[in-house]
Amino acid sequence: MMYEIKHFVENASWAGTSTRTGEIYNPATGNVTGKVLMASKQDVDYVVEKAAKALPDWAATPPAMRAAIMFNFRSLLLTHIDELAEMLSAEHGKTIPDAKGEIARGIEVVEFACGIPQLLKGEYSETVASNVDSFSVRQPVGVVAGITPFNFPAMVPLWMYPVALACGNVFVLKPSEKDPSVALRIAQLLAEAGLPEGVFNLVNGDKEAVDALLDNPTVGAVSFVGSTPIGHYIYSRGTANGKRVQALCGAKNHLVVMPDADMAQVTDALIGSAFGSAGERCMAISVAVPVGEETADRLIEALAPRIRALKVAPCTNLDSELGPVISKQSYDKIHNLIEQGIDAGAKLLVDGRNVKLPGYESGYFIGGCLFDNVTTDMSIYREEIFGPVLSVVRAGSYDDALKMINDHEYGNGAAIFTRDGDAARDFWARVRIGMVGVNVPIPVPVAYHSFGGWKRSLFGDHHIHGMEGVRFYTRLKTMTMRWPSGIRVGAEFNFTSGKEA
Ligand code: NAD
Repeated sequence: MMYEIKHFVENASWAGTSTRTGEIYNPATGNVTGKVLMASKQDVDYVVEKAAKALPDWAATPPAMRAAIMFNFRSLLLTHIDELAEMLSAEHGKTIPDAKGEIARGIEVVEFACGIPQLLKGEYSETVASNVDSFSVRQPVGVVAGITPFNFPAMVPLWMYPVALACGNVFVLKPSEKDPSVALRIAQLLAEAGLPEGVFNLVNGDKEAVDALLDNPTVGAVSFVGSTPIGHYIYSRGTANGKRVQALCGAKNHLVVMPDADMAQVTDALIGSAFGSAGERCMAISVAVPVGEETADRLIEALAPRIRALKVAPCTNLDSELGPVISKQSYDKIHNLIEQGIDAGAKLLVDGRNVKLPGYESGYFIGGCLFDNVTTDMSIYREEIFGPVLSVVRAGSYDDALKMINDHEYGNGAAIFTRDGDAARDFWARVRIGMVGVNVPIPVPVAYHSFGGWKRSLFGDHHIHGMEGVRFYTRLKTMTMRWPSGIRVGAEFNFTSGKEA
């Protein structure tokens, strides 16, 4: 049965005024399963106004009371995790255990936000000058917007709003139009947790809704996660309008295999990190860099049969290891890039393009693909493929491997597999990458650290969640106070410092 996804404003479903809709697909079958309302500029402005109305009371609510709602929210997410994972998988296509994993990582951010009274504690200095004290506090930015991608429809929004709300902001989320249901269901749970009306709102839509958020003067900050061209656009337009913007973007993550690495461990790591979630993770490993020809040959020998054996199936099949990619457009783009790789002279050792699943002939399935002899000038190396395609670039030396990573335009994640402490230390110290793994293929920071890349993987100054999240969603205010008994008679024309009496 076809369903319709509306907006969520002041803790209630809202249809808005626009009649424009988008289609939601089941990527395993290629069938349209629902439609999503696409907000107009007027709709977005209305929602922002409702959020702004809720701001003063929410900002004045004691942090411990805001945290109490986060505790309730956490319990509700845990109680509903099975339902949420099924809803997520049906529209995204990832396996149920993977969907549960992303929700669990999102819950960790809620747990972090539960500690907000401690996190918002300011700094106080007594007697910075005679009878003068100084202290700093962090106050909410105000109305904050989040614009999120399809690939983590639960976790990525949860990277943002638990922290933003706990800091005293009100929030407007614009989730991906490709798989919007789970974000909407979570919004209902947030209301059930006791969040006052208007504090968290959700508008569905596309470029029109996003532009309206970027141009609305009431919106003080924008968190974006998605592809690099769109992220760059959002950063430019948002900052030109005077907003604080963090835009977390695309990636090309390398895994360096040193000659001394444990090859069984490397193979397991690559299978999970390159093909998990069909490669549709911004922290997926898409390039393996074995150091030395002998290491490369051993790697290929271990890896190729494992990739051929991957179980490609819809998420409803509980032993599925590799589900469909999100859309026909994405499916075509991946096929096109694979052809470019072959034409450029890379060797396609495992070809997953001809997967046929009875009953799912129109689904967007691509089996695992492995390219050898990829070089750094090829489009399959330079571009983010965002599919189950692993490229092997053979490096002559460790220094060549490091240089290759540092020269790449993206800087989200990278890993090294080695048993040598010197190599590991040199790698994490010198690599120009935001998140680095040593014998860990997907080094996604836990919620109380912060997530973010370097170079064209992040525009803006702040990483997301952890203390960076608290900093992004608050403004620093510093007070300098002298009480009447300490006031000297006579005007002061110069700056004074604490070194003067
Ligand atoms: P996307 O850039 O197409 O879409 C992201 C959001 O931007 C969506 O909400 C979408 O509606 C909106 N959008 C799309 N086109 C727009 C336009 N022209 N103007 C204004 N808004 C627009 O990304 P996606 O395909 O949904 O997600 C995959 C991408 O996200 C990959 O590049 C992946 O690496 C990246 N990603 C990055 C991180 C990270 O933390 N760095 C995490 C997850 C995903």
